[in-house]
Amino acid sequence: MLIILLGPPGAGKGTQAKRIVSENNLVYISTGEILRKAVKEETSLGFRAKQYMDQGQLVPDELVVEIVKDRLVEPDDKKGALLDGFPRTVTQAKFLDKVLPDVNAKIDRVILIEVEENELIERLTGRRVCSECGANYHVQFQPPKVRNVCDRCGGDLYQRDDDSLETVKERLEVYKQQTEPLISFYQEKELLSTVDGNQDIDGVYKQINSIIEDL
Ligand code: ADP
Ligand code: AMP
Repeated sequence: MLIILLGPPGAGKGTQAKRIVSENNLVYISTGEILRKAVKEETSLGFRAKQYMDQGQLVPDELVVEIVKDRLVEPDDKKGALLDGFPRTVTQAKFLDKVLPDVNAKIDRVILIEVEENELIERLTGRRVCSECGANYHVQFQPPKVRNVCDRCGGDLYQRDDDSLETVKERLEVYKQQTEPLISFYQEKELLSTVDGNQDIDGVYKQINSIIEDL
């Protein structure tokens, strides 16, 4: 099974993805997480990607497609993969179409999570992330039990550099210009399902789950 989560930054893709992968036994592929890890570990990929990420721009396609290709081969004990934050451009989507037959896979569903812009800004500027396990929190909407400490693993929570108001606005603009064209790209292929992401986390999950159950 191959599922793609599509939607603007802050729509709740990461939050939903973590639950979907654990309940459906899928490999989780988040290009954003992979890139942040590369930046933290100061690899050459991280070094090249950082300048774009800090400014809220997309990392060039040729860097991103390389990291995805290697991960699409799933371990035997998994039932498929979930892509979060990839593809983000039509070029990336076309690349995916080209490599999937090589790994004997096809896209089962692209799930678009739609959320209003003001809500996205609130979600992103209040987001906190666990430095150890990557779990997402929100100071108001999804606070941890103990301030700045991860409920799951006890790791420290931090605010992403690109979650400042200025960079968030830039990322939303980049989404409109470069990623939104994927909506019609996948609509034309009859692969798109849309979910109302303005609901609470459980409500969004229920809608996504009913789409997955029908696959
Ligand atoms: P994305 O991966 O799409 O950028 P996240 O899953 O990281 O988005 O969610 C962004 C922020 O919004 C996080 O702080 C998360 O806790 C919060 N959040 C996610 N889903 C909801 C929701 N349905 N209602 C309120 N807050 C949410
Ligand atoms: P995310 O964690 O999905 O919000 O991604 C954080 C940042 O990583 C983005 O703002 C981009 O700079 C970069 N990034 C993540 N995924 C991609 C992608 N598919 N293409 C280009 N840049 C990406």
